[in-house]
Parts: sequence; structure tokens; C-alpha cells
Amino acid sequence: MPRGRQSCLGVIYCRDFQGLPKAYRINIWEQVALAARIFEEGCAMKITEIKPILCQGGIRTWTFVKVTTDLGIIGWGDASEWLRAPAHSKIIEEDLTPLLIGENPFDIERLWQKMWTASYTGGKDLSVAMTGVETALWDIVGKALSVPVYNLLGGRCRERVRLYYDNCDAYGSGFAGGYTWRKGDTSLEGIAKQAQYIMDQGFDALKLHPVGLPERPAVSRSISLKAISDTVAKVRTVREVVGDKVDIAIDINNRLDLPSSMALAKALEPYQMMFLEDPIRQDESPGSYKRLVDSTSTPVGTGENLYTIWDFRNYLESGALDLVLPDVCHVGILQAKKIAALAEAYHLPVAPHNPNSPLSTIISAHLCANIPNFLALEYMSTEMEPPWRDKVMKPPLGAMIKDGHLELPDAPGWGVEIDEDEVAKHPHVEVWYAGLRGWEGLTVK
Ligand SMILES: [Mg+2]
Repeated sequence: MPRGRQSCLGVIYCRDFQGLPKAYRINIWEQVALAARIFEEGCAMKITEIKPILCQGGIRTWTFVKVTTDLGIIGWGDASEWLRAPAHSKIIEEDLTPLLIGENPFDIERLWQKMWTASYTGGKDLSVAMTGVETALWDIVGKALSVPVYNLLGGRCRERVRLYYDNCDAYGSGFAGGYTWRKGDTSLEGIAKQAQYIMDQGFDALKLHPVGLPERPAVSRSISLKAISDTVAKVRTVREVVGDKVDIAIDINNRLDLPSSMALAKALEPYQMMFLEDPIRQDESPGSYKRLVDSTSTPVGTGENLYTIWDFRNYLESGALDLVLPDVCHVGILQAKKIAALAEAYHLPVAPHNPNSPLSTIISAHLCANIPNFLALEYMSTEMEPPWRDKVMKPPLGAMIKDGHLELPDAPGWGVEIDEDEVAKHPHVEVWYAGLRGWEGLTVK
């Protein structure tokens, strides 16, 4: 770039989603220099480095993936899955990086197929690791072409992305005001206060969890009558607070057998749930989901532990779901787009799972803005997040959320950048969770 021209700013005038005039400030010389290189080299960019970066995001580990190219364009991807983050990091470094160095980041479909078929078995850990890289490639392509990723997917069906607030299980829980996790008030009074708190922030959808189930690991998957009654009382409490202004989902986290799932779904019918999530382990039998769906008017969804179009096909072909809940940052943009299209063919809505990182929320939101059959995106409540959440990404996630909706930035790629210096202050630590233990007393730095 010519000396003295680094700050040569220009303005592009165009129209926003509603057709209103809008101005964007850009660095003209940066854009011209980049366009010239892409034109000269025919998009023949090459991946030169892939680097997973683990960050202890409060109660969860966030896995950011930084992909560098020979044109100097850096893409950020996300592979946040908190149970086995070091394993995903290792797969990226040892298995995927040798496959991808020197490849053209524009060839996303071909590279996905290359990574997938290079493995003999597939599976969750591979899918999550691949997603970390794949999502970074979308960021690179968006930046190279100076367009937001949603415009690479076919544009937006909606300007704002509806979020559902997870969770409504306690009032006053979290790290807010300190660095040690506290559980909050889980009484019905506390639940009612939390429902009001969520509604007051403008959210029109929320999620809660059942009460009275045995702690994990538990051999039995049967639910007691008292647990059903207590869970129904919790849902009723929320419904009484929010009326018909807020949709309510409940997540069972794979913990019930079929008769218990049927009994709970039936008991919840009067409360017109948005969905019942993951009552039965989804890696075991679509047939059991089919029997459950046929037994109740409560909508049943699953998907956070399904990773490909082939996993979802087995459910959709047999009519075993009322809606699909894939995790965009566990399956990747390409698979998520295809899964949403499969669901669309069966007239089913999509509500992506997303208890991951701030970047994961942005990546998921690009897909949610695009697909026609979007219902709502999971948003991990701020009290579940560390107090420094909004420092790791620019612009910060909190600044994009208004009235329970996420307003995506319109900068190229994902429209955000990860602050590596800030991330480095919170390195991954082998802690507590392992998917089984509670969070009470957990201290984050
Ligand atoms: Mg779930």
C-alpha cells in the first residue's frame, strides 16, 4: 500500500434491508489493493497456517480457529465444544492442517469432502474440528470478496435474528459482579423473577430445564411422578408470568426413556411449548423419537448430537421430529445449510443449538439470517458467561443484541474479529466440567 494512504477512507452508498439509504466507510486503498491481487491471481489464494486457540470462557471452553492465507487475509472459525476441546485442537493440528496447507480457501465444499473422507469413521470430534476450519474459510472468502457471509449463502430472509434465552432456571445466578459461579434462586419465586427479567430485556423466547431428574451419571432414565409434577409447576409458573408473549422450550439433555418422555410431553401439552428438546439420546434410535412425536401435541426436536445430512435424514424420512436443532458450530455452515434445506422439504423449522462462544453466536446468526425456515437461535444468558465476554470479540456481542434479537454487522466475512491479546488472558484450564459436575463455586479468572 502506498505510504500515507493507509487512512484513505471512502464511503460506499447503498440500501439496507428495508431499502433505506445507508453509508459504509471503507479504506479505499486496502480494498483496491486486495481486489487487484485477487484479480491478478484468479482467487488462487493459499492457506498457509491453521491455529486453534483455546480460551476458558467461564464455565465452558471456547475454541477459536485462526486460518492465515498467503494474501494476508485471516479468517476466524469456531469449534467450541466444551467437553473435549483439547482433542479437537489436536485433530485440527495433527490431522486436518496437513490436508489443508497450500489449498485454496475458496474451495470450501471440496475441502469439506476431503477432510470428511480422509477419516475412516467420521463422528462428532472430527465434525467439530472440521467446523473450526470450515467456518474460518467462509470468513476468508467473505473478506476476499468484501461481502458478509450471509450474502454468500443467498442473502438474508430477515434483518434481525431472533434469540431464545437460555436459561430460565434460576434468578441471580452467574458470575456477574464477581468471578465465582453462584447458583441463584431456583425456587418457583426465583423462576418467576427470572422469567420477568428475561421478558423485560425484550426476549420473546426462553428455555428452561426439568427438575427432579437423578444426577448424572445415572443408570435409570425413568422420571418420577413428582419430577413430572415439579417440572410442570415450573413451566406453569413461567407461563403465568409471560402469558402468550413468550415462547417456552424445555431441554431434557438426553436423560429419559420413551415412557417417561411420553408422560412428560403429555403433561406439558396445556402449556403450548415451543419445543421439547432432546428427551431421548438421539444417537440411539430415531424409532423411539417417532413413537414419541406420534404420541403428543408437544413439538419434539433434537439435533445437537447429530452432525451430517445423513444423521438428520434418518430422522426426517421417518417423521421422527417436529423441528431440527443442529449446532452450526459442530456441523459447519455447509452441512447446516443442507440440513436446513432437508428440514424445509419436510416443512420443519430450525432452531440451532448454540451454548458456545460469542463468535459461534455470530457464525450461527449468519446462517439463521439466511434460511427461510428459521425459528430461533439459542443465546447463552449473560449470567452464564464470564464478565469479560464482550472483550474477546470486536465489535462486542452485547452491542449487537437489542430486544432479544441479534443485529448482524455488515462488515465482510463474519463482520467481527477476535482479540488474541484478550483471549490469551484466559487460557484453557482442565477443570471441573467433564459434562457431569455442577458449577457451584467454580472460579474463573
Ligand atoms: Mg440441548
